[in-house]
This record gives sequence, C-alpha cells and structure tokens, in this order.
Amino acid sequence: MQANRANEKELGLRTEKELEELKAQYRKELLYSPKNVSETEEGFFEKAKEFCEGYKAFIDSAKTEREAASFAAARAEEKGFKPYDRNRKLSAGEGVYLLNRGKAIVVIKKGTLPISEGANLVIAHTDSPRLDLKQRPLYEEGGMAYFKTHYYGGIKKYHWTALPLALHGVLFKKNGEKVEISVGEKEGEPVFCISDLMPHIAKDQVEKPLASAITGEGLNIIVGSVPLEDGTEVKLALLKLLNEKYGITEEDFLRAELSAVPAGKSKDVGFDGGMIGAYGHDDRVCAYPSMEALFDSETPERTAICIFADKEEIGSEGVTGLLSAAYTNLFKELCEAEGAAYGEFCENSCCLSADVGGAFDPCYGEAYDGKNSAYVNKGVVVTKYTGARGKSGSSDASAELVAKITSVLDSRNVAWQTGEYGKVDQGGAGTVAKVVASWNVDVVDLGVPILSMHAPFELASKGDIYMMYKAAKAFFELR
Ligand code: MN
Ligand code: MN
Repeated sequence: MQANRANEKELGLRTEKELEELKAQYRKELLYSPKNVSETEEGFFEKAKEFCEGYKAFIDSAKTEREAASFAAARAEEKGFKPYDRNRKLSAGEGVYLLNRGKAIVVIKKGTLPISEGANLVIAHTDSPRLDLKQRPLYEEGGMAYFKTHYYGGIKKYHWTALPLALHGVLFKKNGEKVEISVGEKEGEPVFCISDLMPHIAKDQVEKPLASAITGEGLNIIVGSVPLEDGTEVKLALLKLLNEKYGITEEDFLRAELSAVPAGKSKDVGFDGGMIGAYGHDDRVCAYPSMEALFDSETPERTAICIFADKEEIGSEGVTGLLSAAYTNLFKELCEAEGAAYGEFCENSCCLSADVGGAFDPCYGEAYDGKNSAYVNKGVVVTKYTGARGKSGSSDASAELVAKITSVLDSRNVAWQTGEYGKVDQGGAGTVAKVVASWNVDVVDLGVPILSMHAPFELASKGDIYMMYKAAKAFFELR
C-alpha cells in the first residue's frame, strides 16, 4: 500500500478513533519489528525446553573440540551414518562422516541431485576460548604446584581467577601411548583454580584498567599443595602422584594438548528456566542444533553438509581450522566421485556460517546500536557483515543471498532478526564466513544471539537455540 497525498487529505476528515485505527493499520503494514520466538508456534517454549535438554547433554560432555567431534561421530553412528570412504560414490539419502584428526568433523547427507548442483552447508565451530597449558607448565612456588598457561582465543583475563577449572586434553608418552585426561567435571573430583588478590590489599590492582589488572603470565593454575613426606618438594610429590595415576613424567607434558576450562555443568537461568548458562555456547550452541537438523531432515535434494570446525577462535588456522585444505579436498573428492567439476559445485553451493551473534545487553547498552542489535528471544540473528572498523575482515553477504535465505526462514515460520555486534568502531568480530566466501560459495552468518560472549558462563535463550535448529532444518531442505 502507499500512503499517498489523497490519504493524507482524508485523514483530516476522520474522527480521532478512525485516525487511530488508520495509524494502527499503517504501523502494521509499514513498520518492521522482528517477532518474538513464542509467536511462531503454539507451545513453543515447551518444545524449546525439550530440545535444549539434548543440547545441555552435549555441552556438558563436550567441552573441547576433540570431545565435540567424538560426541558428533558417536551421534552420527547412532543415526546410521558411516565413516566416509573416499573410494565409494555416495547414493541419495546416504549419510557419512569424516573426522579431521579427531578435532573437527564433517557430516554429509547425500541429496537426490548430483553433486554438481552444489550443497547446502552449515558450518559451526566447536573450539571455545580457554586456557591452554604451556608446553613446560609445571612449577612450584610458595608451597604450591602450578601449571603455567597460554590463553586461547579472546578472553577477559579477570574472568578466569577464583573460578573452579577442569582440565581436559591429551598427552603422549615417549613410547607414543596416548593418555586422555579429564579432571574436574565428575562429582567428587577435584577442580583447579587461579587465585585472585584479596581486596584488603588490592589498592594497586584495583586502580589498574581491567585489561591489565590480570596479566597473561599471571594466569597460573594451582594444581597441588601436598609435599613429600619430609615436607618439601610439592612439584615432585605431584609428579609422583601423576606417575602413579597416568604413568607419566614431567617430560610427557612436552607432547600434550591440555586445556583448562570452567568446571561443571550448564545451568538453567531465571525463575522460568528460559535461558541456559554455560561455558562455550560460542559456538557449540549453533553446532549442536545444526547437526541435529541434518540428522532430522528428510533426504534433501541438494546434499546437506554440516561441519564442526576447529580453531575459529584463533583465526581458523591450522590443519583442523576451516582454512585447511582438508575440507576443500573432501569436496573435490565428492565431485570426482561423480565426475563433477569442483568449480561448479562451489558456484552452486550455499552456506550458513552458523556462529553466535551478540545479543543486546541493556546493562551495557552504551556499547551497542540498539536500533541494529539482536535481542534475546527474537530468533536467529542473520548477520550480513561482521568485521571491525569499516567492515574490515567481513565477507559481507549479498542482498540477493540475504533475500534468498530469509525467504526460506519466513516460509518455515522461523523467527529471525538482524544484528550488528555493537556500535561502529566499538570493536568487532570475524567468523568462518570469509573462508567459505573464498571458496566461491555464497555464505551468510546466522546464529544464536548470546550474552556475556567469551565469558566462562555465557547465556543463551532456549527459544533462540531451538530456533537455530529450525533455521538449519529449513536451510538443509532448501532447493
Ligand atoms: Mn564463534
Ligand atoms: Mn568466539
């Protein structure tokens, strides 16, 4: 409809009540406001809560990319998916998965169309900010044994003191034997901790800016305090204990990948339990719903592919990060198996970079442009561009692609919204989208809006998490 001059002229002749009705009609037809997730279907939050029980089981048992990849592989097996075999052509409806060095996973459901028609890809990452142990981590000071750490990803260092920590990872003995370590999650198990200075004597500390009050070299984890029988050498006593438990020596830490993450399980948040507080929603909160959507979708026309990528938090580098040829090589093999051209596959493919967005936080409203922010319970956030300053580092999805994706979401009654990270020049972020775009695959960011991103306890709404599942399912079934 058009609010033309004829209408305006008419307005003057109407009664106040008629005028209000007309304005209400204009508002309805002309103004935009994203709908709340609860408007999309009856009993929405009940369904969302039920779905999120599965999500909580995932995040409680998969705190690192290795654990997430193992979880996903086991789930894929449960759903009848088989390990990928490069010597066999896939048939329509067939499901396979490929683990990349145990730290990333690609799950594929072959569509009815030839691979040259492209794939619908949903790519999330399962690495989260944390404290990795240094290669020679163990030392003793002040009658305590410590691990030195080197933080991974973008953290606010002060978050990590006075917080129960768990240790996850692997270590290789000199003879090549692999030792898997997970301590601090099970009931009754000890946890670890970085101490903080008591306020009584923190005059100098509290006057420092947040960014420098706690330093990277200050993030040392207390791992022991009991000395040998003669009251000396806590470090040696600890090594004796580790040797008894795992058969390892100090040298074996040189061949380890051990990470400290917040200990404990996810929790429902709020009287109504409408949100989940947990470590590492970013980005397991997009990963889990995406893969469940792939499992649940009918045999698609276009091949459906879901990736849990590693190393996103440090720039998607490394052999398990999305910049690795591991992924493009796999796509090339899928094409070769059907005699299809890889270039054609890429050109015809479409991708959701499924990563979290920042939800507007009213307690820190000054950092956001509230008119262009995503809000909790308004559904998945479609982020056309990320980046910092003048969109630097963003792949900036085309209007054509945004139109195509959002029309699919609308047709499936998926609540979605747009959202920038924060105010212009306030900072910024990047995702795997630019890597995907470099393959010549159309890609847009779409994910769950969260609060306290990168904090040890991030918040996400159950409604938005379930909406992520619905969005990914709609996308996988996109022709
Ligand atoms: Mn992320
Ligand atoms: Mn992140």
